[in-house]
Amino acid sequence: MNKEGVFVCTGCEIGAAVPMEDFEEVATEAGASSYMTHEHLCSPEGVVAIQSAIDDDGVDGLVIAACSHRAKTDEFSFDTTKVHVERVCLREQVAWCQPHGEEDTQMLAEDLVRMGVARATTVSTPVPLSEDIDRTVLVVGGGLAGLEAAQVAAGMGNPVVLVESADKLGGYVAGMKDIVPETPPYDAIHANRIDELITAVESHPGITVHKSTRTKRIDGQPGQFDVELDGPAGSETLRIGAIVQATGAVPYDAGKLTHLGYGKSPDVVTTQELEKMLVTGELHCPSDGRAAQRIVFVQCAGSRDPDHLPYCSSECCAASLKQVAVIHRDHPDIETAVVYRDLRTPGQLEHFYLGVQEMPNSLFTRGEVAGVESGQGGRLTVQINESLLGDEASLETDLVVLATGMVPNAADGEAIRELTDARMRIERNESESQVKAAQEIVTDLEKHDGTQILNLSYRQGPDLPVLRYQFNDSHYICFPYETRRTGIYAAGSMRAPMDPSQAAEDGLGAAMKAVQCLEMAARGEAVHPRAGDISVPDFALQRCTQCKRCTEECPFGALNEDEKGTPEYNQFRCRRCGICLGSCPERIINFPDFSVGAVAGMIKAIEVPDEDEEKPRVIAFLCENDALPAMDEAAAKKIQWNPWIRIIPVRCLGAVNTVWIADSLSGGIDGILLIGCKRGDDYQCHYIKGSELANTRMSNVQETLDRLTLESARVQVHELARNEFERIPKIFNDFMETIEEVGPNPYKGF
Ligand code: SF4
Ligand code: SF4
Repeated sequence: MNKEGVFVCTGCEIGAAVPMEDFEEVATEAGASSYMTHEHLCSPEGVVAIQSAIDDDGVDGLVIAACSHRAKTDEFSFDTTKVHVERVCLREQVAWCQPHGEEDTQMLAEDLVRMGVARATTVSTPVPLSEDIDRTVLVVGGGLAGLEAAQVAAGMGNPVVLVESADKLGGYVAGMKDIVPETPPYDAIHANRIDELITAVESHPGITVHKSTRTKRIDGQPGQFDVELDGPAGSETLRIGAIVQATGAVPYDAGKLTHLGYGKSPDVVTTQELEKMLVTGELHCPSDGRAAQRIVFVQCAGSRDPDHLPYCSSECCAASLKQVAVIHRDHPDIETAVVYRDLRTPGQLEHFYLGVQEMPNSLFTRGEVAGVESGQGGRLTVQINESLLGDEASLETDLVVLATGMVPNAADGEAIRELTDARMRIERNESESQVKAAQEIVTDLEKHDGTQILNLSYRQGPDLPVLRYQFNDSHYICFPYETRRTGIYAAGSMRAPMDPSQAAEDGLGAAMKAVQCLEMAARGEAVHPRAGDISVPDFALQRCTQCKRCTEECPFGALNEDEKGTPEYNQFRCRRCGICLGSCPERIINFPDFSVGAVAGMIKAIEVPDEDEEKPRVIAFLCENDALPAMDEAAAKKIQWNPWIRIIPVRCLGAVNTVWIADSLSGGIDGILLIGCKRGDDYQCHYIKGSELANTRMSNVQETLDRLTLESARVQVHELARNEFERIPKIFNDFMETIEEVGPNPYKGF
């Protein structure tokens, strides 16, 4: 920026913690052109004073030295297309966590002001994006979740295109007569309303339905997708703004459950096969057509079984309860028995379970089904171990119903993973034999018709990434409908195991996210976690070496590649995480307000005392998503920590470029901490891969440490959850002990 003004607040104990006499000199020496203090900078008078500096004095770089950047955001909200706002945290990082009036506290505050001015001097204001955004929502999948999504998006005024691969709408629920309770008091079955929903969607003037149609190719980005459909009338390409994928789930293959009698006796059927009988009203044994007098339900047929589906399918217990209720309503003479390991009825469905338990002729017993054998008179015998009926028990029955679990239809995750790995091995050109083997895999899988659903023309693969059980990858903790492809939202049982009422709610939620994404794209803003951010990275491609790190590491597939491997940036796919900035060895990816140079300037602004002063200096890169709020919370509880640590907030730990670590260490900084969100299968990283990448990049850091002949203990990576605030002071203090043991950085003074 051209003219930086430093605005220091002395309220909230800041003035008591740090004498302000020398502050103006510190700010001016750092490069600020103006300086003021105010006893309550967030008060209307304080804000007016800042606004006058902008309007009257031409200040375009505001260094607001006050509270955390997470506090008083409304008060300190200025036009970011005209001024840069740099928040320097003197309250949480100084006044609330350090003893007042001490030399170290003063040095900390002065360093933070210098760092803030250094950054404000280096950055620029972003230019907002302004492009034509199409508001059409494409819904892929015409089951319950997809129908709800289509209806909701159309209800908000968006044109909707609904694509279904089958020749009719309704999906899994279409074949049901009754459904589990969806409304209070949640104790009785309801008639299936899917036909009404199908009629409403098909007759809606804003919704175009394409049946027997698939998505053949999707190019582009949110607001500007080009979607090629392949249907009975041939191919057509549509301009689409956002996409909801609601491709549902399929029942687990009961042919793999021979230990439960499936395939051995025709009288062992699945939930779906019994449903067809309930719809016709004919409960006869398939083996000989005799009327069933007793029906045994086996819960967890495949689910929660490491040899089949390791997860709980969530809806099969409720589906069996519904079938028991229908049998007792329509066939009151038939006895039912439900054998379960645990009967899981999440949420309000517990009321339903209690109601079904009270029905006459209805038995529930806990136990493990050890086998299903032929019994007397053509009946079946269900052998049960560890039952409430006794250690070993058996039940004679006419029909056995296996409550089979669900397998997501989110694309063939295994195949996609294999395809992506093979393509990367080819690109890395590892060895002739490995490349040949990978090429064979790619040729084979690309031929495999039906593997892909969306057919995205993205460098990182044709479908949404999936988790280990092939449900769609989503930041499930905070953003259930989000996927790793911006503008594409997941709904229903392809996202997570769920029952029909949850799937319908999911369709609603995903449609709202799709519409929200379009609104934000139209304003040139990022969707969360940096919702509202208008900055986009700049790629100085004339210096690009085509190393492909950025295109491989971008967690959101925002970057395609040309044939040489040069990144092709798609701004509306970008979440502004900065992981590409962290990945680039040439340091040519930078945001206007977050750049390699800006952070390097902050590092340089830290005054490093001489070795004989025995005041080590440590830089802590804190992820702004969980670590920084956790630190604010520790400070709010007035927990104190070592004063020799200087905090630099980053968008994500994956946005830390290793050059900052090298710069810091060669400049005499004694140690580096990186604190971010948890990684792994149950990751909490808001950008999915950021913490993982930060750990992987530590091997590059080790090379730097070796080159500088420095100890590896000088760099540590930590992960913590948002609520683990009490760990922050401990991590800081323990690390300082380590640094004292290792001794001062020998590069001090160079
Ligand atoms: S900022 Fe993040 S989402 Fe955007 S291109 Fe870079 S790595 Fe991808
Ligand atoms: S990481 Fe940097 S050098 Fe490598 S391909 Fe991306 S922009 Fe080019």
